Amino acid sequence: MPMTKKHIFALYAILLLMFSGTWIHAVLKDDRAPIHTVADAHAQPGGVISLVCSAPPARQLSPILNQSSAYPGDCISLYIAHAKGPGQFSVSAPFYEKPLTFYPYRDGYAGLVPIYAWLKPGDYQIRVKDLVANTETSLSVKILPKTFDVQYLWVAETTAAILSDENTAKDQAYFDAARANPIREKLWDGPFVQPAQGTITTSYNSMRYTNGNPVPTRHLAIDIGNAEGTPVMAANNGKVVLARKLIVPGNTVVIDHGMGIFTSSVHLSEIVVEEGRRVAKGDMIGKMGSTGYAAGAHLHFAVWKEGTFINPNFLFVTDPVAYSE
Ligand SMILES: [Zn+2]
Repeated sequence: MPMTKKHIFALYAILLLMFSGTWIHAVLKDDRAPIHTVADAHAQPGGVISLVCSAPPARQLSPILNQSSAYPGDCISLYIAHAKGPGQFSVSAPFYEKPLTFYPYRDGYAGLVPIYAWLKPGDYQIRVKDLVANTETSLSVKILPKTFDVQYLWVAETTAAILSDENTAKDQAYFDAARANPIREKLWDGPFVQPAQGTITTSYNSMRYTNGNPVPTRHLAIDIGNAEGTPVMAANNGKVVLARKLIVPGNTVVIDHGMGIFTSSVHLSEIVVEEGRRVAKGDMIGKMGSTGYAAGAHLHFAVWKEGTFINPNFLFVTDPVAYSE
């Protein structure tokens, strides 16, 4: 066991007892346990006492959801209070087949469960297994109905040609590298802010029919339209992990906000931050433009949570991981 402040304090208590012969009642506070007694003894000067350090009693896992209902595109936060490590529990959400990552948070671990934009409304369950105590807790989530827009878009053939599989794959390699090692701590603070002034010209999960194509695409981001050069800000605190010109998204900035949440701002006319830089909520990161696959000046702003694009508007009104004590 490594020597900690607690042990130094206990040793000091023994020495004090040996020289003074007075009652000593030493307590310490463990980070993950209530205050408990480690020494309570009476001895004569020069006498010997034994000091027993008892381990704090194991506490049952306490899984808590921050909301019991959600819309498609939202993100539900699950906090497993008292968990000592990610190997102590398993989480399964049958409506979400991708792996879920949990990060150290307060007195346990917390993670975000994205709700697919296309998930059907209804009642769903999230199951949390305590692998040590061999118990299971079931948490109910109601997915509420929501209607999304339909949009018909026409873009110039020269612009449309940019959107090839080859170009998309080249860009994706940069996104994948930038998101490969998410920062584990929660860097963001409170709700996110809309990253630019302007009008929402395309909302999240709009079904978009482009150039008469009968097969629509889902727009899993928001578009904010305004004049070329309008400042674009960091939506919350984080670290810039990508700041470069790509092919389809044009000038792109990706910010890692911690705990698996990344935001991307694309089609910028100009980038004013470098990769590796820490940014605070509201810091300018670039200017609105129409670089890459864009029909006019606008900001395409997306929120990515470990493989799934969630609704940015959801983060503008709520901190995705916030629990009151
Ligand atoms: Zn867009």
